[in-house]
Formats: sequence, structure tokens, C-alpha cells
Amino acid sequence: MKLWSQYFIPTLKESPADAEIPSHKLLIRAGLVRKLGGGLYTFLPLGLRVMQKLTQICREEIERGGGIELQMPHMHPAETWEQGPRWAATREIMFRADSAGDGKRAPRDPEFVLGPTHEEVITPLVRAEITSYRDLPKNFFQIATKFRNEIRPRFGLMRAREFVMMDAYSFDTTEEGAIKSYQAMKAAYEAFFRRIGAQAIAVEADTGVMGGSYSHEFMIPAEIGDDDILYSEESGYAANREKATSGLVPADLPEAAATGELEEFATPGIVTIAALAGAPYSVAADKQFKTLVYVGDGKPFLVVLRGCDDLQEAKLGLLGFGLVRPATPEEIEPVMGARPGSLGSAKGTIKNEASLAGIFADNAVRLVGNGVTGANKDGFHLRNVNVARDLAVTKFGDFRRVQEGEPDPKSGHPLKLRRGIEVGHIFILGTKYSDKYGAVYTDDQKQNHPMVMGCYGIGISRTLQAIIEQGHDADGVVWPWSVAPFHVLICVLDPQLPEAMDLARKLGAVAEAAGADVLIDDRNERPGVKFKDADLIGIPLRLTIGGKGLKEGIFELKWRTQKDVAKIPLTEGEARVASAVKEAQAKA
Ligand code: ATP
Ligand code: MG
Repeated sequence: MKLWSQYFIPTLKESPADAEIPSHKLLIRAGLVRKLGGGLYTFLPLGLRVMQKLTQICREEIERGGGIELQMPHMHPAETWEQGPRWAATREIMFRADSAGDGKRAPRDPEFVLGPTHEEVITPLVRAEITSYRDLPKNFFQIATKFRNEIRPRFGLMRAREFVMMDAYSFDTTEEGAIKSYQAMKAAYEAFFRRIGAQAIAVEADTGVMGGSYSHEFMIPAEIGDDDILYSEESGYAANREKATSGLVPADLPEAAATGELEEFATPGIVTIAALAGAPYSVAADKQFKTLVYVGDGKPFLVVLRGCDDLQEAKLGLLGFGLVRPATPEEIEPVMGARPGSLGSAKGTIKNEASLAGIFADNAVRLVGNGVTGANKDGFHLRNVNVARDLAVTKFGDFRRVQEGEPDPKSGHPLKLRRGIEVGHIFILGTKYSDKYGAVYTDDQKQNHPMVMGCYGIGISRTLQAIIEQGHDADGVVWPWSVAPFHVLICVLDPQLPEAMDLARKLGAVAEAAGADVLIDDRNERPGVKFKDADLIGIPLRLTIGGKGLKEGIFELKWRTQKDVAKIPLTEGEARVASAVKEAQAKA
């Protein structure tokens, strides 16, 4: 039992100017966190209590899903990362933490980095400690602070530089084993989000180089989320836009017959799809080919799309490059022979085709049939371009960004779109890390094989804020019982009356005995201030004790989610409080 006057809950009437979204405002106003710098926050006592509850529930469910808890260092020797598969790709998001320096490394190279996740630490550990199939599978997890140099930290704990994550890593002998571990974790996540009262949905997510369907993100639907979810209620399909496919291009689409000779025509000054769609050319965007130049692991490659489509960059992950970026204008001309605006992939028109790592065309270009593309000659385009006859395509694939309203790949119904907050991610990694670090096991025939890994993350601190984003009203936070910093708030309107405080302590003890965490508001404040604060901090059950009520022989009981106030006769007080707590626990 805590007394508000002796505790520390600095509530605010106004929200700080940099808080743009409701949950960020409430984090500050309800006295849960305070900002130190961009993306850096102190958890105040109330916020810390919520974090501790989330952590404990998470631990219980991950353990139930097979996880074994350990704790890895936050600071890693840079060499550990240099030996791994994604040093180049992750360098920029990692903070360096150098010592005074031993002079052995070049000053520009980091000596230590602060961990953004821990594949690079757990894999060498498992390599050193586990060698036999008899000791597998294993799934290790921790709940700890992560560091990421986010380009744009924002929305409070949502995208922070320092945040708390549950991260888990499974090691199996076979792919089937890895799928089992994955499914156990998926069930553990579902149980975790259910227990904390968050409506999170699992959506198919980008798998990077892995492919397949073993990547799900857990999303809490919210307007302010950073991710687009395309979904269909009819079929249950739900996918992050990064990964979403649609039924736009039927698999059995017949090849378009060529309609005429390939023909060059002058398009002086025309460098955009929109300009070519306008007079006098009037080539509709869906009759144009868009040719983009990218660089994968240092080698240029082309992506061809319909003029009306956009590239979904994440889908390039399927091509298997470690590091992908758009080519610079200076890099493009020597390869293509023209500047952006006149590029194309028609056979024989690319200046230095041999230097390309490939020409990858989106499936939807097959819908174009015959169209118009750049001639790789500044100021010229080609017409009557037939996909099958004229384009130099290495491989077709799904590279376009799916739009709302396109047919669901499963049912054909129009896909719907909503925004979501990514609170967790589960992923089968395969042998990417075990190959690199030599994490192998010997089977019963004394043969060596790489371990098949999975990785799993839950953003605990982001989840805290997502719960607020999902569960608040005009007056403040509405905590679910299971993670509320306190379950019962006893507002004593006349704390100077000994009988009022005595009753508060007595009812508090009853609630505690039933398993509730109790806060007594014993401050010398006006009732209005106390009620406003009570709503703001969002404690599920409020008991109000006042001198006037005591004279009438009652106190009041009110749920944060309900308007009505029940007058409880003092004679029934203890029993009613105990049963209210039990009722809430049963529902949680
Ligand atoms: P995002 O797509 O939001 O940048 P991510 O894909 O980089 O996240 P993961 O590497 O999969 O995230 O990390 C696991 C979880 O950690 C995420 O699902 C998210 O809940 C949380 N998380 C990631 N980055 C941050 C951050 N900067 N601040 C708070 N939580 C984060
Ligand atoms: Mg992610």
C-alpha cells in the first residue's frame, strides 16, 4: 500500500509541446515518464511499475513457450559484429561506445557498439556451449535495454533511441524443428498480448532474404502507427504492406501478342511518367514501363515496374543482396547510357548490360503487354514494347507496392487498409548466423550441420505506450487490470479525519489481501483535483471516502471504465471491495 503524499506521481494539466499523439501526452501528464533527450526517457515510479508488470507477464509466457532466460551485455566488442553477416547493414543504427582508446584501432572504427539486438552475441555463445543434437532445441531470451540510432526518434517511447525489448533466439536441428519453435513463440505472443489486454493481431511480414511465410509482426491497430496493414475480413488475410501481395495479376495471364515493330520516338524534355501521360504523347501510366536502377552489394541492377506502380523496397530483400540502395545519378549514366527519365530495359539498348547484377521485373508489367519505355538515350522513348519479345528480364517477381482495394490474394475481395503499431516480431532466420559463426551440431551419425535459428522480439516499452494509445479517453489513461500500476485507488477526501484514513487503510488491506496493488490518495487537495488526477492516471477501481459519506454510513465505489458510482454501506464495505477485486481479476 502506498500513500500518494509519500510517493512520487507528478501529474500535469498541460502536455508538453513536443507531444503530438494522445499516448505521448498522457505518458507525460500521468507522470509515467520524463524526457532526458530525444528518444531517451526516465521511467518514473508509475511507469516503472507498468514496465515491471509487462516484463513479468512476458517472462511467464515466453517461459511457457519454451524460453530460457539469460542476460547478455549491452556493450559488444565491434569485432563480434564485424564477424557477423550484417555489420555493413546495421552499422548506421548502432551507437559506438569507445573506451579511452588503446590506439590499436583506427580512430574512425568503433571499439565497442551498443547492442541493437543480440544475434551476434547469442550465436557465438551457443556455438561454444552446444555441440550435440542431444542438447537441442534451445530457446534463449532476455528482457533488456536496446540501443538504436534512429534517424527520427518520435512519439515518446514508440520510437526511442534506448528502449526495452524481450528478445529470444531459438536453435533447432531441422527446419521442421524451427517451425515448431516458431509456432510455440507465436502462441506465447498471443497469450502475452491477451493477458496484458492489448488487441494485437499477427500479420504476415517481410522475411528479407528468407522468403516463405515464417515471419509475423504483431500489430496494435492505431491511426498513428508507422505500418500499413492490408487485410481482408472475408479470408482472414493480413499482411504488412512491405510484404503484402494481391490478386491483381492472375497466375495464368496469357502473354500479350506483339502489336507492331519496336519504334523509337523523340520525347524532348520528357523525364517523368506524368509528362509522358500528358499531351501530346498521352501514354497512360499503366501503359508505361518504369525502370529503376539500384545497387546491390556494390553491383547495379534494374527493377522494372508499370508506370502507375511504386516499388516496395523491402521486397528487394528477396533478391538476396546484403545491402541494397538506389543508384546515384552519377552511377546510372555509365551503366544505362542515359539519365533518369529516359531509362528502359529493352533488349540491346542498355549501354553496359554486362555490368548488371540482373534485370528484375514486377509481375504486373505482364499486364502492360505492349507499352512505352525509355530508349536509354536522353530525350527518346520506345513504343510497341512487348514484354515477352522486347524486354531483357532476368526474373519476374513481386516488387510493387499493393494498394487498398486490390483483390485479396486469397478471396478476391477488395483489400482494406489500416495503420498499426508494430509491437512484436517473430522470424525464422534459417542458418544465416549459424553459418557465419560456425554454430553447428553433430547428429547421431557424427555429421555436422548448422543449427536452424529463429529470432523473436517484443518491444516492451513501445507496448506500454501502445496500450495507452489503444486504451484512453478524454480524461486520461484507462489501464487494463493486469498491467495497471495500481489496481485500487482510495481517494480520501478528508485525510485530516482519522476515521477516514482508518477506513482507507482497512479497505486497502482487504484489497491487498485479495491480490490488488493499492494506492491511497491522502493529499490535502480539493476533491476536484483528486478526481481529475484519478481519471488521468487511470487506476481501474476507485474507492472514495469522505467525511460526509462516513456520516451517512457509506463510501463510494467506481470503475474507471464506467460512469456510475455505487454507494457502499460501511457494513458491507470489506466484502464488496474483496468481491470487486476478485471480479476484476477473473475478467483480466
Ligand atoms: P520498426 O519497424 O518499428 O523500426 P524493427 O522492425 O526495427 O521496428 P525489430 O528489430 O523487429 O524492430 O525489433 C523488435 C521489436 O522492438 C519491434 O517489434 C518493436 O516493438 C520494438 N522496437 C524496435 N525499434 C524500436 C524503437 N526505436 N523504439 C521502441 N521500440 C522499438
Ligand atoms: Mg520489424
